[in-house]
Amino acid sequence: MESGRRILSSKTYETVKTFLFFYVVLRHSIKVQRHLRARGLFTTARELYTWIAQYIIMLALRLPAARRKVKTEMDKARLDIENSLVAKGADVTRHLSLPAEGHTPEWILAEMEKMDQEMGKPNTWKAGKLSGAVYHGGDDMERVIVAAYAKYCVSNPLHPDVFPTIRKMEAEIVAMTLRLYNNPDGAGTMTSGGTESIIMSVKTHRDWARAVKGITEPELIMPASGHAAFDKGAAYLKIKVHSIPVDPITRKVDMRAVKRAINPNTIMLVGSTINFPDGCQDDIEALGKLAVQHRIGLHVDCCLGSFIVPFLEKAGLSEGVNGKYKVHPFDFRVPGVTAISCDTHKYGFAPKGSSVIMYRDAQLRRYQYYVNPDWVGGVYASPSLSGSRPGALIAGTWAAMQYMGSNGYLESCRQIVTCARRIADTIEASIPELYILGSPPASVVAFGSKNAEVNVLEVGDKMSQRGWHLNALSNPSAVHIACTRLTVDAVDMFIADLKDSVREAKTQPSGKGTMVAVYGLGNSSAVGPAMVGQLAEAFLDTLYKA
Ligand SMILES: *Cc1c(COP(=O)(O)O)cnc(C)c1O
Repeated sequence: MESGRRILSSKTYETVKTFLFFYVVLRHSIKVQRHLRARGLFTTARELYTWIAQYIIMLALRLPAARRKVKTEMDKARLDIENSLVAKGADVTRHLSLPAEGHTPEWILAEMEKMDQEMGKPNTWKAGKLSGAVYHGGDDMERVIVAAYAKYCVSNPLHPDVFPTIRKMEAEIVAMTLRLYNNPDGAGTMTSGGTESIIMSVKTHRDWARAVKGITEPELIMPASGHAAFDKGAAYLKIKVHSIPVDPITRKVDMRAVKRAINPNTIMLVGSTINFPDGCQDDIEALGKLAVQHRIGLHVDCCLGSFIVPFLEKAGLSEGVNGKYKVHPFDFRVPGVTAISCDTHKYGFAPKGSSVIMYRDAQLRRYQYYVNPDWVGGVYASPSLSGSRPGALIAGTWAAMQYMGSNGYLESCRQIVTCARRIADTIEASIPELYILGSPPASVVAFGSKNAEVNVLEVGDKMSQRGWHLNALSNPSAVHIACTRLTVDAVDMFIADLKDSVREAKTQPSGKGTMVAVYGLGNSSAVGPAMVGQLAEAFLDTLYKA
């Protein structure tokens, strides 16, 4: 009797063990199979190879001799970064501890002026020789924003009962933006910028998928040209990312590859109008069809497109010219679009620290909220990442939108897009060494070199020597300019400088500029990305050198 029961229980034990074993094997093979289907055999093998190569090189770099060499090189690079960012010398005043007595307002302004002089480059951005960065609405606009700031300097929307006007203005900013993107009955919130809007949307879709579809190992699918904020959000929120290659000519995402990457763990797809690297647009209608079919989310990133792309149609620019620059539907009118991010602080000309995340309906927005009903400090409920928020920024954004009005944005869209198209057309017509990436419908133009005769990163470095701050891109190597209102007046200078830079890059390449050094290094070997990563960390450290 006794031993009979023991035999039985050990048999049960064996069965459970076998079952568990097959369960684990099955789960892993499903995972592997989904991974293979999403990436393809070739890419998976290449990823594996890169990973092993990097691992071996990192091991080799731990050998004392190699470590010393790397350290010397890194120290040199670190010093270069520091020298370029931090003012040196005994005459530089440093404020490293609080002054015992507070200073007067006059002293403070005078000290800021002095620091501007010491650091050099005060207001160089005004010459317009830069890509994006400053989305300036003009001097009048600046006064309007500063006045709004001053009026609501200390306000905090975390306490809507104390600051009812701020609450109203935020709701109105969201409502105005929703209408612009053709979803007046939708819902949204403001955030501190495009990155927060995107991270919130990823969190919203993750929590929605968990609640509605029971997904506990979420995956997200984005074009390789999508913004790094999605990777950042996915890294924070533990979500697997499938980055899908884009066509080298059209710059549109490979839809067949997107389809292959979808599996029961997929929570959302991503598309951009327009994307950051080359300013092109993904096929939102095709992505929307997939989203509907698989009942998953589709986030359209209009952080950059912001207050330009919704005006292209009205400006008569959406049809393009000679088959180029056409813009296809991208807003909530496309079935399947569940969320759109729009940066008021880009082409909305609002002060920095302001963006809107929109959802198809209020029900979806619920998943963005954080609520803690039994916190010791009271019932805590907040709509987005921050707790306390600057009400002054909301007032500044509201003021900017009221000041510009629909016609103001329409005019700025016309000017900026005309400027960008002029740059693209001129490059295609009269700089035979370069080509334009895709057919960018709005404000960003990216160019690469047609052959090895000229290195486009070298061109970028020659442009830097002429005072331009442009962006370097990888895969393929390219340089872009995001046109703003400042570029409109600097466009002739840009074209002239670009022609000179191409000529010089061809005849006298130095190979020493930042773009060539950093981006060349990143692409040069398996160890490149790791080294660039270390350099980037050194750069971030340097930002906090007082
Ligand atoms: C700028 C940008 C973002 C991120 O916005 P931040 O305001 O810098 O956080 C996201 N997507 C695109 C396409 C952008 O250009």
